[in-house]
Amino acid sequence: MRRPLIAGNWKMNLTPSEGAALATTLRQRIGMRSDVEILLCPSFVALQAVGEAIRGSEMKLGAQDVFWRDAGAFTGQVSPLMLCAVGCEYVILGHSETRGRFGVADPDLDPTILSYFSETDASINRKLRAVLPHGLRPILCVGETLAEREAGQTERVLQTQLEGALQGVTADELYELVIAYEPVWAIGTGRVCEADEANRVCGFIRQTLRDRYGEDLATLVRILYGGSVKASNAHALLHQPEIDGALVGGASLNAEEFEQITYCAPKR
Ligand code: PEP
Repeated sequence: MRRPLIAGNWKMNLTPSEGAALATTLRQRIGMRSDVEILLCPSFVALQAVGEAIRGSEMKLGAQDVFWRDAGAFTGQVSPLMLCAVGCEYVILGHSETRGRFGVADPDLDPTILSYFSETDASINRKLRAVLPHGLRPILCVGETLAEREAGQTERVLQTQLEGALQGVTADELYELVIAYEPVWAIGTGRVCEADEANRVCGFIRQTLRDRYGEDLATLVRILYGGSVKASNAHALLHQPEIDGALVGGASLNAEEFEQITYCAPKR
């Protein structure tokens, strides 16, 4: 059975000391849960402090991105080796924000800034292939924009993103893969995808994996939903048969809210 995974993506929030304080609070409240897997993904600079705060608990540490080389002249990048050295077990790959696809039009955001976040399916594929040999579990994010959804392109977009990211990767290598369905229009917007629609799309993702890799892998892979998950909507989402957990952004910064979301996961 797939154990639910509730992951907090803290994005570019919290200093190391603030992150350690939140992690310590969460550890006291939900640190020894075995019914759900709980993962914290702070910024790179807070990984060490948060890792120390949760050491010895059941909670896991993850990063929000990675570069695909182990070392070298790559200013500003962080390698899989470095993530492993600070205790990361997971890494988020291909988040819509690193792909330069934003759900909300921020009036303060100069449109030219988007080119600084121009992750592609090809770069995500490189990262995915680089982290697997290190035992780092990728959380591969896929999702359509509102315009793509309204044009009836959701399935085509997801298929392209999945095929691009998984190119050249065998089923054996993907044993630890997690996928997060994150409709871009639902991220940080407060507009959540209806639970039955999220379930339908997660089922489509699983079918795509089945077609490509066979039943064993498709059955094993956890598929999360992400996009404006809160304590008030988590129960309906997490009780869908194709949804195995949640990737939580904004609500993961609040200990009580995040704790409540973990209690919405079904016992499997
Ligand atoms: C996310 O960034 O992965 C996310 C789902 O954000 P939010 O929960 O804030 O919509």
